[in-house]
Amino acid sequence: MRILSELFKLGYGVHIPGDKKHLYDQELQWYLDPKYVYIPLTNHVKHGLRSLVKVGDYVKMGQKIGERADNIYAALHASVSGTVVGIDKYLHRSGNYVDCVVIENDERYKQVEELEQACCLESQLSSQEIVDKIRESGVVGLGGSGFSTYVKYVSTNEIDTIVLNGVECEPYIATDHNILLNRTDLVFEGLKIMMHAANAAKGVIAIKQHKKPLFDYLVQFAQEYENITIIEVPDAYPMGWEKVLIRQVFRKEYDRLPADAGIIVNNVATAVEVASAIRGDLPLIYRTVTVNGPAVEKPQIFRVRIGTQAKELLALAGYKANVQQVRLIAGGPMMGTIMESDEFIISKGVNAITCLIEETVDGQRPLELPEEPCVRCASCVDNCPAGLQPVNIMIAAKFGEAETIQQLEAKACIECGLCTYVCPSKIPVTQWVREAKKVMNGGK
Ligand code: SF4
Ligand code: SF4
Repeated sequence: MRILSELFKLGYGVHIPGDKKHLYDQELQWYLDPKYVYIPLTNHVKHGLRSLVKVGDYVKMGQKIGERADNIYAALHASVSGTVVGIDKYLHRSGNYVDCVVIENDERYKQVEELEQACCLESQLSSQEIVDKIRESGVVGLGGSGFSTYVKYVSTNEIDTIVLNGVECEPYIATDHNILLNRTDLVFEGLKIMMHAANAAKGVIAIKQHKKPLFDYLVQFAQEYENITIIEVPDAYPMGWEKVLIRQVFRKEYDRLPADAGIIVNNVATAVEVASAIRGDLPLIYRTVTVNGPAVEKPQIFRVRIGTQAKELLALAGYKANVQQVRLIAGGPMMGTIMESDEFIISKGVNAITCLIEETVDGQRPLELPEEPCVRCASCVDNCPAGLQPVNIMIAAKFGEAETIQQLEAKACIECGLCTYVCPSKIPVTQWVREAKKVMNGGK
């Protein structure tokens, strides 16, 4: 197994222009009254959840409407009150069409009874009770991973520090920046709760360098809290990846999970939802989303109900839908997924909608242009933060060589997109690495 000192021989990644400073001072826009919500019965592409409701049922806001028997995958809850009018397939952030519970919003926002009474302080709860509540509330990693948050807190490792990741190294996305500024109290409360849940002595909030006003503000805010510090990290991609972040901040390395190094990393948006869940608010039914890019006239940051259709936010942001060369991405341009239409759903894992306009060359879009041959420049190898050989993985994928792909440890790829970004021949290397993983898993 490679060790990280080898993996990061190239430093900490690549500086990529962010194009998001215009969003830093923007107020959060609340968009909370969609006529319908479409709650995907999945948190991940591969793992569907069982619907607990059927067409015609009346559901209350916060009611559990989807779960899995094994409980590993976070439950789903209704984000409005109203009538279930369908369970049909809609476009998910994965690029696949998945079953969604469609609820017609009655705009009464009637809550389930237990939520109306719920209110408690984490000091009244044991660590186990907090973890149980996080699980029941359906909280997942809101930085884009979509994995159940509670799972990190059932580790048997001794945890020393909780890190809130506010690095947000992908271009165009300012969701975490907005949350840190506008929901600061909940970020800190969430961190305190997470520290209690893991019996961790210390808390750290990590943000990117060159954000002095935000840094000063958070340092000031942290004075009210014991054992919470604010740390700046270099402005490089993929600094937000847990392995890079932990090495940068703690000079620690681990093989499997951050918990092996005594650390749990959560996104700042996740901390807000943990605070809401424990303090008696609702389960995870809202999320914050950046809509940004050259194909929108008014880039904005929205607070929306889970299940809102992306096209409603795009309309509010002045989306230039008539431009032929628009490319819509659920997430950021590096790790997000290109969407075939604007009718995709804002599920828990969608932290941004990136709206790009592609340049054309001789009337052709770059993706339609023939690939240039690989010039064996090794740029993809030199810049891979996981220490892989993307070019060789790609070649093995083209020949369907599952064993070679395994030997090249393709499964360690975090799909950060850097190999495609740096390739001078414009080869979609990341796509090939994704393909290689499928070859390795027998085509699945
Ligand atoms: S996408 Fe995977 S292979 Fe490519 S640079 Fe990122 S981690 Fe390396
Ligand atoms: S960066 Fe592109 S051209 Fe260079 S080795 Fe990798 S795949 Fe080949």
